[in-house]
Amino acid sequence: MTILIVDALAANEGRRKFSRDAIGVGPRLLAGICEKNNKDAKIVRVEDILENNDFFNQTDFEVFLISGMSVDKIAVKRVIKHIYRYSSKSRVILGGPIVSDIAIVKEMDVLAGVVGEGESVLEDLIRSDFSFQSFEDNHAKQYELNRLQDIWLIKQNTLSTASIFDKYPASTDRITDYPDFWFSKVYVEITRGCSNHFRGEIVKTEGGCSDCGNCEDPDSVVTGDCPEDIPPGCGFCSVPATFGAPRSKSKNLILNEVEELFKKGVRRIILSSPGFFDYYRGNNEVSIFSPTIPAANLTIISELLEELVRLRDQQEEICSISIENVKPSLVTESLAKMLGKYLPGTAISIGCETFDTKHSSAIGRPASSNQALEAAKLFKNEGLDTQIYLIHSLPGETVKSLEITRKVIKEDLKDFVEKITVYKYLPLPNSPFTITNSKQPIVRHFLKEKREELKKNIIEFNKNKKRDLIGKKLDLIVAEEDSQRQNNYFAYPIFSGPAVSVYSEENILKQTVSAEITEVLSDRLVKGKIVRIFKQRGN
Ligand code: SF4
Repeated sequence: MTILIVDALAANEGRRKFSRDAIGVGPRLLAGICEKNNKDAKIVRVEDILENNDFFNQTDFEVFLISGMSVDKIAVKRVIKHIYRYSSKSRVILGGPIVSDIAIVKEMDVLAGVVGEGESVLEDLIRSDFSFQSFEDNHAKQYELNRLQDIWLIKQNTLSTASIFDKYPASTDRITDYPDFWFSKVYVEITRGCSNHFRGEIVKTEGGCSDCGNCEDPDSVVTGDCPEDIPPGCGFCSVPATFGAPRSKSKNLILNEVEELFKKGVRRIILSSPGFFDYYRGNNEVSIFSPTIPAANLTIISELLEELVRLRDQQEEICSISIENVKPSLVTESLAKMLGKYLPGTAISIGCETFDTKHSSAIGRPASSNQALEAAKLFKNEGLDTQIYLIHSLPGETVKSLEITRKVIKEDLKDFVEKITVYKYLPLPNSPFTITNSKQPIVRHFLKEKREELKKNIIEFNKNKKRDLIGKKLDLIVAEEDSQRQNNYFAYPIFSGPAVSVYSEENILKQTVSAEITEVLSDRLVKGKIVRIFKQRGN
């Protein structure tokens, strides 16, 4: 029996439009559990099933594990139809954030949905030969088991400790199932869970806070529990409620995983974490619920990065390691210097959502907008490229808050920030806003107008930053043909920067090149002239 792991993450209606050069952690984790239990498994992206009629002629599959988010509902529904067309006896199990949305699960023709952490569930399902009766007979005490129409909903009774990382290492062999693994950013999980268990005014009001004192301010939060069952953390995010306080993966496990991925030909590694500076805060001995206290564990993070960059620099090809995002509330000059020493020229993300300090606190953000700006300045001084993430249409948004954000973008960010990304707020299942039914802003002409202005300013900001790149050189991996421009190829920066369209009459696919940026094609794409083709590192 071969198990097919279907990666539908961010596929939306069937094909990823954004983050096309990213490979998430989840499917490799599932593959690791299959390997541990001697089950053959293969990973496939949802589009490679939907767009390839011959896909199922190649191998025999009986069990299908689909991983997706709520926004991927259409892609998941479509792939389930394909699977049953292939064999009506297929056993289809759904996992990932999509399962937190019960209304969506009800619409899915699946045997089971796994809620939250799924490692031990999958292992016990494998050991039960995917018989739900035998699973129920043997594991009823360990899990919450519910029936939703004909669908089993399975959830672990308690969250795992940090030992989960030792017990279930992610597969590195199956990375080559992704046809684009050699140029993609491959995510390696280093912490799970989030330390922001503060609750903002909006969910406190909507959820009926009884002022137990736990959420006076982010520094003094001591527990994730709330007597009124109001979920913790930023109002729009479900991570603290789903995964609890942070747990860190050991240095050796991370080093092994990264080393194996490099051996397979991965060139870009992202250390994935809801907050990089949560790594070993409290030494994995106590649960951390405050996003500010204690301070980050500079010593352990330095040791990890020192060994990782040694590995990176031993590779024949130019490779990069970078981190995903940080909480500005933990950033200090020493931490920024340390990142500058080990990961110079890489990108680093800061989630801000809004630059209006009052709004930021009301939605439960752990840091003020000023702290985000200060962090961006420190990173700039150390040669890191800061990317800021914003969300519009959040509960509590006002014309004034949008105007403040717009003003900061126009006046304060130019010298410190390389890129701004803005998303529209979408209620996530299991998030504090959804659970407390916090209202989105009412439809108002002025709000709409201000949002459009904000978006326009952001596009302009990003274009200007790309104009600043003209004349500069970037090291790139040539990834695919540019279908819009003849004899051009899309290439991705190894360290940081936008996608680049480069001209070549010869086939340069898979080559590493250095290109001088010559033109801005859009707020996401620039044009470059190849000045050098690398054979190996430094040649
Ligand atoms: S834990 Fe709950 S009741 Fe206590 S202060 Fe926070 S929101 Fe209010």
